Amino acid sequence: MTHAEILTIGTELLLGEIVDTNTRMIAIALRKNGYDLFRTGTVGDNPERIAASVSDALERSEILITAGGLGPTVDDVSREGVALGLNLELEFREDLWEQIVERFKAFGREPTENNRRQATVPVGSIGIENPVGTAPGFIVELDGKAVIALPGVPAELEYLLQHEVLPYLRTRLETPAVIKSRTVRTAGIGESWLDERIQDLERMTNPTVGLAAHPGRVDIRITAKAATEYEADEMLWGVEATLQQRLGNGIYGTDDETLEFAAMAQIRKAGWRLASVESGTDGALERALSEFEEVFAGGEILPDRIAVDELDQALKRIQDELEAAAGLSLRVVTSEENVEIRARFHSPDGDWELDRSFGGAAPNAARFAISLALDAVRRGIENP
Ligand code: ATP
Repeated sequence: MTHAEILTIGTELLLGEIVDTNTRMIAIALRKNGYDLFRTGTVGDNPERIAASVSDALERSEILITAGGLGPTVDDVSREGVALGLNLELEFREDLWEQIVERFKAFGREPTENNRRQATVPVGSIGIENPVGTAPGFIVELDGKAVIALPGVPAELEYLLQHEVLPYLRTRLETPAVIKSRTVRTAGIGESWLDERIQDLERMTNPTVGLAAHPGRVDIRITAKAATEYEADEMLWGVEATLQQRLGNGIYGTDDETLEFAAMAQIRKAGWRLASVESGTDGALERALSEFEEVFAGGEILPDRIAVDELDQALKRIQDELEAAAGLSLRVVTSEENVEIRARFHSPDGDWELDRSFGGAAPNAARFAISLALDAVRRGIENP
């Protein structure tokens, strides 16, 4: 029998300001449909505590239904909490946004900037259209389990339970499927270039292939549904092999592997240690590398817009002081028109230089620059 849990979300519930009728409503619906309700809980509007409750529940049960916290304001944090609990990023979804805009239109109103939050859901979610309110719900399927996030307004919740959630749960019951996902991580190749090369894969329905872009990196998430774990693994492996063939060196890792890990693995393989200097990045490079204690010798954060010869001298000095065979310098200068990125790398095997301008949003510039530099490090001297 499939186990389910309910999590109601809202500080007013904890304070006893409103009576939790949603738990009862969901519990009755689950019982009538043959689900074993394992546990229920309530948590306040706090992303970390929601995340902890979500991951806790999935340790025990296959299905978690949450209610509340999907409104447009900053204290509606269920989207963040669920994403955090499942270790997923959030993504803005044009399809959900269109539904929200349509709903507002029907009332002769226009959504505000805040409402965009309501179209921002964990990557790869199935959207649940809400024809009786503005907050869309969503379902995240992960490793054969599902988190179903619904709005807290009882009338909306009831409607979505009957019309969306129970039918969804029935299809799951009929075909007890294993769902497995794998994330293939790429850097140094643009989203549109990638999109062109894997469009055929993105159109598949099982396994599904979806892209999530980050500054300087694109993740490709493959999700397969099959009768057995073995079959699901075979499907994932098939797509991954195709991606390897088409994208080659653009792939730096899978699942939890980070770009900094891939870059530092290269340094470790060469038997070096790396020192860094940076300017205009708010120390983000050093922060990204500091967990790799045995290979990262240390870094120095220099003033913004420092002259390039001073930066180069500082790198030499710190490499000498720390006895680091490899050195990386990164300088990001943001102006009104664009962002200029300059990266230099020195090692016993040779050096490389990268000069790029970045046309994206200024707040992403440092992240982009770091991805660019680390990607060059992990690609090695011949092919930065
Ligand atoms: P909205 O888009 O309307 O803001 P939401 O998903 O953000 O929806 P909440 O803000 O958490 O929902 O709750 C909206 C209202 O729904 C609450 O003020 C309360 O009146 C009611 N509500 C929320 N949770 C419950 C519950 N567990 N039991 C009964 N009523 C609830």
